[in-house]
Amino acid sequence: MKLNYKRPEPLIFEISGEGKRGINLPEVGFENVNLNISKEYLREEIEGFPSLSQTEVVRHFTKLSSLNHSIDHGFYPLGSCTMKHNPKLNERVSSLKNFTNAHPNLPEKYVQGSLKLIHLLEKSLKEITEMDRVILLPSAGANGELIGMMMIRKAHEMKGNPRKIVLIPDSAHGTNPASCVFSGYQAKEIKSNEKGMVDLSLLEKETTEDVAALMLTNPNTLGVFEENIKEIAEILHKKGAYLYLDGANYNAFVGLYSVKKMGVDIMHLNLHKTFSTPHGGGGPGSGPVAITKEFAPYMPIPIVEKEGERYYLNYDIPNTIGEVRSFYGQFGVLVRAYSYILQLGFEGLCEVAKVSVLLANYIRKSLEGIYRLKYLSPTMHEVVFDDSLQEKKGVKNMDIAKRLLDFGVHPPTVSFPLIVHGALMIEPTETEPKEEVDKFIFAMKKIAEEIDGDPEFVKGAPYTTPVLRLDEVKAARFPKLRWKKE
Ligand SMILES: *Cc1c(COP(=O)(O)O)cnc(C)c1O
Repeated sequence: MKLNYKRPEPLIFEISGEGKRGINLPEVGFENVNLNISKEYLREEIEGFPSLSQTEVVRHFTKLSSLNHSIDHGFYPLGSCTMKHNPKLNERVSSLKNFTNAHPNLPEKYVQGSLKLIHLLEKSLKEITEMDRVILLPSAGANGELIGMMMIRKAHEMKGNPRKIVLIPDSAHGTNPASCVFSGYQAKEIKSNEKGMVDLSLLEKETTEDVAALMLTNPNTLGVFEENIKEIAEILHKKGAYLYLDGANYNAFVGLYSVKKMGVDIMHLNLHKTFSTPHGGGGPGSGPVAITKEFAPYMPIPIVEKEGERYYLNYDIPNTIGEVRSFYGQFGVLVRAYSYILQLGFEGLCEVAKVSVLLANYIRKSLEGIYRLKYLSPTMHEVVFDDSLQEKKGVKNMDIAKRLLDFGVHPPTVSFPLIVHGALMIEPTETEPKEEVDKFIFAMKKIAEEIDGDPEFVKGAPYTTPVLRLDEVKAARFPKLRWKKE
């Protein structure tokens, strides 16, 4: 690892000094009361445990806390991840004491308010998607996929044959094949056509009586909307197969189209991408599954239901796929989502979709020709360029991503989707001001110019970050977490 000594923040061990102290409180004169840290918590086993003054400790950790790029620091166009601003109001609402202090083992009569919120969120998501039920249990998008596929398996089993294969377009998200294998199916890839969409004649050929479903990411990872989605559903339904929609990127069309009318049987959506909740640091997400009524008998338990004015947890679903997690979902994420929906209203949600598409297209138009666009189909919420023009000068997508760090921009997703060699997948999201997007476009143009003039310079980036070029794999697999005196 090369440290950047232009802006170093040393290790806490390095600023330690003999005899420095934070605060020492005097004895208070009561037996068994000691306001200083008790000896049992001191880490004697760490050699040279640092001693610092309080000022130094506060400064050190304040500086460290600002070294990571985050959405509160600047532009974060990580494709497929929807790293958008999340209204702070939703944080306030989800941390209201009556929500956070509700223990999940409390009897139903004491948590009527929380159950009501779950019920109302389901109701809103039903109205928005036009699907018949929405299951709010899944912990994340990938978990929603698994639960959806388990229900598809159950539906086929009830008809006498679980079937064997799930078709997955080569433009799908990587979690799709994993979920299909976990639910006991064999994943079979189908190639996209030259527009980056599902090839209907190929689909027709591949949809045999062995096929349980097609898992379709829409908009797909090229940021392209499947124009023939109704035909796709018809081809599958004719053979008794289902259409599973990966709607993690629902922010691209929320409110604008009815998922039900597209012919979708099951869809998951990521609350943490479309309906608020900051994410990206591995924190809790939520991937609700919207279903048609055909799947209601297989829903996982428990499901929140309403009877008269009472809300209760229904464990009595005869052909349920069973319990899929502890308790009732990621409740805090559900609260944020409901708060977000109430703030924006239906019109506001439609605006979300329109602006996310508008900004991605603004970037596309501004950078077309400077970076290559492999697929020319209309762009939805994200745009996928590649590095083929820059590669002629020996510069790769990763070099461009690293150079962007010097402009204070989080790099876009690189080398994904796999069907675009050298991909740079850019998702601005709907919450960026135009000025910020303009700065990004400026940076991308500037980098292209730099590559023309001095490709080696770009290959040496970044120059202004606390840590310069890392060995990406080593840094992730073998992070140096312990300090040893040299
Ligand atoms: C993010 C994403 C997922 C996975 O969601 P997680 O919550 O990270 O499990 C699945 N599909 C698509 C298209 C996504 O963008």
